[in-house]
Amino acid sequence: MSPESARAWKGSREDIARAFGGWAEVVGEVIRATPEDAVHAVPAQDRPFLERWGEGSVTLLRDAAHPMLTALAQGGSTAIEDAVVLAHSCAAAADPAAGLRAYEEARRARTKWLVDNSYSLSKGEQEERPLAMALRNTLMRYAPTSLLMRPFEKAMTYTSPDFGAQSQAPPARR
Ligand SMILES: Cc1cc2nc3c(=O)[nH]c(=O)nc-3n(C[C@H](O)[C@H](O)[C@H](O)COP(=O)(O)OP(=O)(O)OC[C@H]3O[C@@H](n4cnc5c(N)ncnc54)[C@H](O)[C@@H]3O)c2cc1C
Repeated sequence: MSPESARAWKGSREDIARAFGGWAEVVGEVIRATPEDAVHAVPAQDRPFLERWGEGSVTLLRDAAHPMLTALAQGGSTAIEDAVVLAHSCAAAADPAAGLRAYEEARRARTKWLVDNSYSLSKGEQEERPLAMALRNTLMRYAPTSLLMRPFEKAMTYTSPDFGAQSQAPPARR
Protein backbone atom coordinates (compact mmCIF):
# COMPACT_ATOMS: atom_id res chain seq x y z
CA MET A 1 0.00 0.00 0.00
CA SER A 2 1.39 3.42 -0.94
CA PRO A 3 1.75 6.13 1.75
CA GLU A 4 -1.09 8.02 0.05
CA SER A 5 -3.50 5.07 0.19
CA ALA A 6 -2.37 4.27 3.78
CA ARG A 7 -3.08 7.83 4.85
CA ALA A 8 -6.50 7.73 3.16
CA TRP A 9 -7.48 4.41 4.82
CA LYS A 10 -10.99 4.78 6.22
CA GLY A 11 -11.31 1.60 8.26
CA SER A 12 -13.09 1.32 11.59
CA ARG A 13 -12.39 -0.31 14.95
CA GLU A 14 -14.49 -3.25 13.71
CA ASP A 15 -12.17 -3.69 10.69
CA ILE A 16 -9.16 -3.74 13.01
CA ALA A 17 -10.83 -6.21 15.39
CA ARG A 18 -11.58 -8.47 12.40
CA ALA A 19 -7.99 -8.25 11.14
CA PHE A 20 -6.73 -9.30 14.59
CA GLY A 21 -9.34 -12.02 15.13
CA GLY A 22 -7.65 -15.11 16.60
CA TRP A 23 -4.86 -13.13 18.27
CA ALA A 24 -4.28 -13.23 22.02
CA GLU A 25 -7.32 -12.03 24.00
CA VAL A 26 -5.40 -8.99 25.29
CA VAL A 27 -5.12 -7.70 21.70
CA GLY A 28 -8.90 -7.74 21.34
CA GLU A 29 -9.24 -6.03 24.73
CA VAL A 30 -6.92 -3.21 23.64
CA ILE A 31 -8.86 -2.75 20.39
CA ARG A 32 -12.23 -2.73 22.18
CA ALA A 33 -10.93 -0.23 24.75
CA THR A 34 -9.80 2.18 22.02
CA PRO A 35 -12.36 4.95 21.30
CA GLU A 36 -13.63 4.84 17.72
CA ASP A 37 -12.46 8.42 17.09
CA ALA A 38 -8.92 7.49 18.18
CA VAL A 39 -8.55 5.12 15.19
CA HIS A 40 -6.59 6.79 12.43
CA ALA A 41 -4.06 5.82 9.79
CA VAL A 42 -0.45 6.95 10.16
CA PRO A 43 1.93 5.87 7.39
CA ALA A 44 5.27 4.56 8.69
CA GLN A 45 8.12 6.91 7.91
CA ASP A 46 11.88 6.92 8.16
CA ARG A 47 14.43 9.44 6.95
CA PRO A 48 17.87 9.26 5.35
CA PHE A 49 20.47 8.07 7.88
CA LEU A 50 21.98 10.89 9.94
CA GLU A 51 25.78 10.72 9.96
CA ARG A 52 26.04 12.97 13.04
CA TRP A 53 23.93 12.41 16.16
CA GLY A 54 25.30 15.04 18.50
CA GLU A 55 28.09 17.24 19.76
CA GLY A 56 29.45 18.16 23.17
CA SER A 57 27.26 16.72 25.87
CA VAL A 58 24.30 16.05 23.53
CA THR A 59 23.50 12.91 21.58
CA LEU A 60 20.50 11.12 20.11
CA LEU A 61 19.42 7.55 20.59
CA ARG A 62 16.65 5.20 19.60
CA ASP A 63 14.13 6.50 17.01
CA ALA A 64 15.41 10.05 17.40
CA ALA A 65 18.79 8.89 16.06
CA HIS A 66 17.85 6.25 13.50
CA PRO A 67 14.12 5.86 12.72
CA MET A 68 13.59 2.86 10.50
CA LEU A 69 10.67 1.31 8.66
CA THR A 70 9.09 -1.73 10.25
CA ALA A 71 10.05 -4.51 7.78
CA LEU A 72 12.84 -5.94 9.97
CA ALA A 73 10.94 -5.20 13.21
CA GLN A 74 14.08 -3.94 14.99
CA GLY A 75 13.34 -0.33 16.03
CA GLY A 76 12.57 -1.23 19.62
CA SER A 77 15.38 -3.77 19.84
CA THR A 78 17.97 -1.32 18.57
CA ALA A 79 16.68 1.19 21.13
CA ILE A 80 17.67 -1.30 23.85
CA GLU A 81 21.05 -1.95 22.19
CA ASP A 82 21.67 1.82 22.09
CA ALA A 83 20.98 2.08 25.81
CA VAL A 84 23.40 -0.74 26.67
CA VAL A 85 26.19 0.66 24.49
CA LEU A 86 25.58 4.21 25.74
CA ALA A 87 25.84 3.13 29.38
CA HIS A 88 29.04 1.15 28.81
CA SER A 89 30.62 3.83 26.60
CA CYS A 90 30.04 6.50 29.22
CA ALA A 91 31.28 4.25 32.02
CA ALA A 92 34.50 3.52 30.10
CA ALA A 93 35.22 7.09 28.91
CA ALA A 94 37.44 9.69 30.53
CA ASP A 95 34.76 12.38 30.18
CA PRO A 96 31.03 12.41 29.26
CA ALA A 97 31.44 13.93 25.79
CA ALA A 98 34.04 11.31 24.86
CA GLY A 99 31.62 8.61 26.07
CA LEU A 100 28.85 9.98 23.84
CA ARG A 101 31.16 10.09 20.77
CA ALA A 102 32.31 6.52 21.50
CA TYR A 103 28.67 5.40 21.73
CA GLU A 104 27.82 7.09 18.39
CA GLU A 105 30.83 5.50 16.70
CA ALA A 106 30.00 2.05 18.09
CA ARG A 107 26.38 2.21 16.89
CA ARG A 108 26.75 3.82 13.44
CA ALA A 109 27.43 0.81 11.18
CA ARG A 110 24.79 -1.49 12.64
CA THR A 111 22.00 1.09 12.76
CA LYS A 112 22.80 2.30 9.22
CA TRP A 113 22.57 -1.29 7.95
CA LEU A 114 19.20 -1.70 9.69
CA VAL A 115 17.80 1.62 8.40
CA ASP A 116 18.91 0.90 4.81
CA ASN A 117 17.75 -2.72 4.78
CA SER A 118 14.43 -1.96 6.48
CA TYR A 119 13.87 0.60 3.72
CA SER A 120 14.71 -1.83 0.88
CA LEU A 121 12.55 -4.60 2.33
CA SER A 122 9.64 -2.23 2.97
CA LYS A 123 9.89 -0.95 -0.59
CA GLY A 124 9.59 -4.53 -1.82
CA GLU A 125 6.63 -5.20 0.48
CA GLN A 126 4.79 -2.07 -0.73
CA GLU A 127 5.54 -2.67 -4.42
CA GLU A 128 2.54 -1.89 -6.62
CA ARG A 129 3.93 -2.32 -10.16
CA PRO A 130 2.42 -5.57 -11.53
CA LEU A 131 5.65 -7.04 -12.96
CA ALA A 132 7.68 -6.20 -9.88
CA MET A 133 4.94 -7.65 -7.66
CA ALA A 134 4.92 -10.88 -9.69
CA LEU A 135 8.72 -11.13 -9.38
CA ARG A 136 8.58 -10.50 -5.62
CA ASN A 137 5.82 -13.06 -5.10
CA THR A 138 7.70 -15.68 -7.13
CA LEU A 139 10.87 -15.04 -5.14
CA MET A 140 8.96 -15.33 -1.86
CA ARG A 141 7.34 -18.59 -2.95
CA TYR A 142 10.35 -20.40 -4.41
CA ALA A 143 13.53 -18.96 -2.86
CA PRO A 144 15.15 -21.17 -0.20
CA THR A 145 14.02 -20.26 3.30
CA SER A 146 17.66 -19.90 4.37
CA LEU A 147 18.11 -17.14 1.77
CA LEU A 148 14.92 -15.33 2.78
CA MET A 149 15.83 -15.54 6.47
CA ARG A 150 19.36 -14.16 6.03
CA PRO A 151 18.58 -10.45 6.57
CA PHE A 152 16.37 -11.30 9.57
CA GLU A 153 19.10 -13.43 11.14
CA LYS A 154 21.58 -10.61 10.72
CA ALA A 155 19.08 -8.08 12.09
CA MET A 156 18.41 -10.21 15.17
CA THR A 157 22.04 -10.98 15.95
CA TYR A 158 24.05 -8.34 17.74
CA THR A 159 27.37 -8.64 19.48
CA SER A 160 28.16 -5.53 21.44
CA PRO A 161 31.70 -4.12 21.34
CA ASP A 162 34.21 -5.29 23.93
CA PHE A 163 34.09 -2.50 26.48
CA GLY A 164 37.12 -3.78 28.35
CA ALA A 165 37.82 -3.87 32.03
CA GLN A 166 37.31 -0.09 32.50
CA SER A 167 33.58 -0.50 32.03
CA GLN A 168 31.82 -2.31 34.83
CA ALA A 169 28.25 -3.30 34.10
CA PRO A 170 26.14 -0.34 35.28
CA PRO A 171 24.53 -1.07 38.67
CA ALA A 172 20.97 -2.38 38.52
CA ARG A 173 18.35 0.17 39.61
CA ARG A 174 16.38 -0.75 42.69
C1 LIG B 1 3.62 -0.32 13.61
C2 LIG B 1 4.96 -0.47 14.27
C3 LIG B 1 5.44 -1.76 14.52
C4 LIG B 1 6.67 -1.93 15.15
N1 LIG B 1 7.12 -3.21 15.39
C5 LIG B 1 8.29 -3.37 16.03
C6 LIG B 1 8.75 -4.69 16.35
O1 LIG B 1 8.09 -5.69 16.05
N2 LIG B 1 9.94 -4.83 16.98
C7 LIG B 1 10.69 -3.75 17.33
O2 LIG B 1 11.79 -3.92 17.91
N3 LIG B 1 10.29 -2.47 17.05
C8 LIG B 1 9.10 -2.27 16.43
N4 LIG B 1 8.66 -1.00 16.16
C9 LIG B 1 9.54 0.14 16.47
C10 LIG B 1 9.50 0.58 17.91
O3 LIG B 1 8.16 0.76 18.37
C11 LIG B 1 10.25 1.93 18.02
O4 LIG B 1 11.48 1.85 17.32
C12 LIG B 1 10.55 2.27 19.47
O5 LIG B 1 9.32 2.42 20.18
C13 LIG B 1 11.35 3.56 19.54
O6 LIG B 1 11.51 3.93 20.87
P1 LIG B 1 11.75 5.44 21.24
O7 LIG B 1 11.94 5.45 22.70
O8 LIG B 1 12.82 6.00 20.37
O9 LIG B 1 10.45 6.22 20.79
P2 LIG B 1 8.97 6.05 21.33
O10 LIG B 1 8.68 4.65 21.76
O11 LIG B 1 8.11 6.67 20.26
O12 LIG B 1 8.94 6.94 22.63
C14 LIG B 1 8.98 8.34 22.57
C15 LIG B 1 8.11 8.88 23.68
O13 LIG B 1 8.29 10.28 23.80
C16 LIG B 1 7.03 10.88 23.99
N5 LIG B 1 7.14 12.28 23.53
C17 LIG B 1 7.18 12.77 22.28
N6 LIG B 1 7.29 14.10 22.28
C18 LIG B 1 7.33 14.48 23.57
C19 LIG B 1 7.46 15.73 24.23
N7 LIG B 1 7.57 16.87 23.56
N8 LIG B 1 7.48 15.74 25.57
C20 LIG B 1 7.38 14.60 26.28
N9 LIG B 1 7.26 13.37 25.72
C21 LIG B 1 7.25 13.32 24.38
C22 LIG B 1 6.07 10.05 23.16
O14 LIG B 1 4.75 10.20 23.61
C23 LIG B 1 6.62 8.64 23.42
O15 LIG B 1 6.05 8.06 24.56
C24 LIG B 1 7.44 -0.79 15.53
C25 LIG B 1 6.94 0.50 15.28
C26 LIG B 1 5.70 0.66 14.66
C27 LIG B 1 5.19 2.06 14.41
